[in-house]
Formats: sequence, C-alpha cells, structure tokens
Amino acid sequence: MAKHLAGIAKAGADVNAVVGGYLRDLAFVQSSQQKMFGYKRAAAAILALDLPLSELVGPDGTLPRIAGIGPGSTRVIREILDTGQCPTVEHAIDERGKRTDIEERRRLRQHFLSRAEVRRVLTDSGFTGPTLHQYRGDLQMHSEWSDGSPTVREIADACLQRGYHYAAVTDHSYGLKIAGGMSMADAVQQRIAIDEVNAQLGHRFKLLQGIEANIDADGQLDLTDDEAATFDLVLAAPHSRLRRSDDQTSRMLAAIAHPAVRILAHPRGRMSGSRAGVLANWDAVFASAAQRGVAIEIDGDPARQDLDHTLASRARDAGCIFALDSDAHTTAQLSYAETAIAHARLARIPADRIVNYWPLDRLLAWLSNPRSARPLARPTVTATRSADVDRP
Ligand SMILES: [Zn+2]
Repeated sequence: MAKHLAGIAKAGADVNAVVGGYLRDLAFVQSSQQKMFGYKRAAAAILALDLPLSELVGPDGTLPRIAGIGPGSTRVIREILDTGQCPTVEHAIDERGKRTDIEERRRLRQHFLSRAEVRRVLTDSGFTGPTLHQYRGDLQMHSEWSDGSPTVREIADACLQRGYHYAAVTDHSYGLKIAGGMSMADAVQQRIAIDEVNAQLGHRFKLLQGIEANIDADGQLDLTDDEAATFDLVLAAPHSRLRRSDDQTSRMLAAIAHPAVRILAHPRGRMSGSRAGVLANWDAVFASAAQRGVAIEIDGDPARQDLDHTLASRARDAGCIFALDSDAHTTAQLSYAETAIAHARLARIPADRIVNYWPLDRLLAWLSNPRSARPLARPTVTATRSADVDRP
C-alpha cells in the first residue's frame, strides 16, 4: 500500500473531519489573531469539501490547490494523509501549554460529520433510511423577518428548486432579541407576505408560518398561548444556559409539555468545539416527547449537528418521531438539511418516523393533533434517576 494511503486508513473514515479538527487545534494555539483566523478558515474549507481528501490526492500523493489552504495547512494535511497523525500540531499544543484546552475542544467535536462524509452517507446503500430524494420539506429556517437574509418568496423559490413540496419559515420569537426576534405585529405582516406567496404558487408548494420560540430557564416559552396559536408550527429551542454542568431535565420536560410545541429544535444547543449545551436525562426527555407526539429535531447546521446520530438512535429506541431541518439563514444553507438526513441514516431512523417525509395532509393533521402520531415503539426507559444525566 502506498504510504499516503496507509495514513488515510489510520485517520479513519471521515478524513476531512480529522484534518479539519487538527487545523482547528492549530488555530487555537496561535498567538497571532491573523494566523488563528487563517487556520480556522482552512479548517472550514476542508470541512466543506464535497469529496474526501483521500479522493482528491493524486496517484503520486500530490494535493490539488484548495482555496483557503496555505503552506502551513498543506503541511498538516500531508502529515495526516501520510501517517494518520499530526506530530506538528501535537508539538505546537504542548509547546504552548494548551493541552488541557485542546483536549476539551476535541471532546466537544465528537460525532460531527464533514460535508464529504454527509454526501457519502447519503449515497451509501448500506443504509436503508431516509433519502434526500424523498425529503418533502424543511421545517426550520430563518428569513429577513428575524436573523436570516432571504425574503419568504426567495425561500419558497429555493425550496421548490430543491424539489420540496412544503416548508416552514420559523423566525425567532420576540423574546430572543439577540437574534432579531420578530414582534407579533411583524408576524401579522409576515403572514400576509406568506399568504401572497402561497396564492402565487398555488398547489405546487405550501409555505407554513412557523415560529422558533425560546425556552427560558424554567422551560416556559417567550410567547403567550394565544400568540403561539396564530402560527402553523411552533418549535421550542434552548438558547441560554448552554454551558452549565447542572441537570436541566425538568426544563426540557416543561418545554415538551407545552401544548403548542410540535418540535424540540436543536435540543442541546451544542456548538462544535465550543460548548456541550444542555445536560439532561435525555432518555426521559425522549420518552415524554414520544408520548406527546412532539418531534425531536436533528438540526443540520454543520456547527450544531444536534442531535447527532448517537443520541438520535436513543430517541429512536424511545419511540420518538423526528424533524430533520436545515436551520438555514440563507437559501444556500438549505443544503444543511442533508447533514440532518445523514445523521438520521446513521441512526437508522425509518423515514416513516420523520415528519419531513410525510405528505402535507398528514403533516397538517399532526400539527393540529400531535397525539395522532402515537409512539411507534415501546419506550425503553425505566428509570429517571439524576445519576442518568448524560455527561458529554
Ligand atoms: Zn435556534
């Protein structure tokens, strides 16, 4: 076996995630901000590649030119492709006394897929789960009405281009000021704009008006019951208390118990390499969601990937239904739904358990009565001791 191929084998299946991780390690040991940003950009470029580096390397071991990759990053990539490891980065970490910090960041990068790995999983016939082709509509995205950039019409057009039958615009509710939360007065105007889009597109496409409500410290939402009732779909998601070490099971159970909530969105609020998000007894949360017909989201934003496939398979065992969403803030980011689909395939979740694969009439029936989606498997949870709280 050629030297570089032996190294790739050692680096594991998702070689771009391994390389991206080392480049991020290198970014965080730099003393110059400029160099730090350079290595971060390089990591982002590798993680966003459509193909694994192992397929891009020539027969003689040479790398193609990749935008955003300088000589320092190229040396790191070469080392990993040749040996499966990166002594250059490990040495830099120890030299700068950053071992503890970097190990923590590595722990917070577990179970994140690179774009190339997402594409591989989508076409791997070894998985029988949901396909991109059958995906009918995306149920979390942001428009110009909160912190996203597209108009609702641009969203509908982009979704149609992706072959979707429906989608939900889910801007932030007014309680989340930092994300440009939408006032209820604006929500009335947005509804008019959405009605216009639906009138123009007719039976070809249905745009729903959803809202991403913020879960407060006690598990309550940032809008009243009457306000929640004006939307077609209510997502609840945590955006605070995401770096704490205490158990927040009761907070998540309270959010799921809210009668308006249909999707628990980015359930942990984790961020790649930066924070673990909410700690809870997730098996208890999943059991309650399954019983109430609340869908557990797999958020496909590459920095979130929340739930990831390991936790999603526990939600599958609990009998949950799922939502696979992009959490897009631009129309280009609608492709993030593919990350969510890849995790669902890895977790072996049947397409029938995923609301984005349901025809519109079934989706609407579930939105009006979530218990119409009854548990599809017996919950396996028997104990809810606090000792069961997951440590990431
Ligand atoms: Zn959110």
